[in-house]
Amino acid sequence: MGMDGPIGDFLKTLHAEIGAITDGAPASYIPELAKADPNLCGIAVATVDGAVHVAGDWDHPFTIQSISKAFVYGHALEVHGRERVLRQVGVEPSGDSFNSIALDTVNKRPFNPMVNSGAIATAELIAGTDAGERQANLATLLARFAGRPLPLDEATYLSEKATGHRNRAIAWMMLSAGMIERDPEDVLDLYFRQCSYNVTARDLAIMGATLANDGVNPITGDRALDAEYCPDVLTVMLSCGMYNYAGQWAYEVGLPAKSGVSGGILAVIPGQAAIAIFSPPIDANGNSARALAACKRIAERFGLHLFRTH
Ligand code: GLU
Repeated sequence: MGMDGPIGDFLKTLHAEIGAITDGAPASYIPELAKADPNLCGIAVATVDGAVHVAGDWDHPFTIQSISKAFVYGHALEVHGRERVLRQVGVEPSGDSFNSIALDTVNKRPFNPMVNSGAIATAELIAGTDAGERQANLATLLARFAGRPLPLDEATYLSEKATGHRNRAIAWMMLSAGMIERDPEDVLDLYFRQCSYNVTARDLAIMGATLANDGVNPITGDRALDAEYCPDVLTVMLSCGMYNYAGQWAYEVGLPAKSGVSGGILAVIPGQAAIAIFSPPIDANGNSARALAACKRIAERFGLHLFRTH
């Protein structure tokens, strides 16, 4: 690992370039996130061969937030199978905001697992017979992807638990629609936890490289997800992973990706590598302004758009 070699040099230059971007502001609807230093900016690229290249604040911890949705979705598929999971959450881009209190009126289920309603429904599917077991399985899942146990950021978890009334409304609405069955507060507790694990850009790049590598962590060699379900996860990331920018992202960058309100973006190059960028100021769509710009530049520079064959 290091800033050596042509990729490291490229990332260092890129880091300096995107540092000049001053658009956006840290998310403020979760009080704890508003405290983030807007100048932070970290980049990491991890390959399926286990090489990791980093630049800037690559080791600064931040809460994973919505990016966790991709991994928990994979877990739900592995535990329950496609048919069961599809009954509870679709794979259709919503065109609505990520925290919309609306279900797909035709199928009466959340549109997809990347919006909050779908992610809360997915959180209910985490394996385990009681709260403790489910929390342990969640921690194990994320640790397998990252290659190390991830610490829970208690302050953010409690901050969101205390203020996440919109997510609470979504969960109770889903209980009334029969989309979740357990006590909504229990399901929300798991969901708030899954959003509050701390990662670094390096962790996130390794988690993405695990998806790129058919579910096997390229550093530890441990399987984090059945290879069968990696394409499912990557497909919903491509169609639904970037909030209301998902279509434009697919058009411009053409890679499966997931964004989070704390300022992270994870983009996966299937079979090859993953790019993780973290910088707290987010734009009107909820995507980190610097991370978005950086992903576009990397994709263009290395011709990464999946449908560009020349
Ligand atoms: N925990 C955040 C929420 O549920 C996640 C949102 C996000 O990163 O998109 O509001």
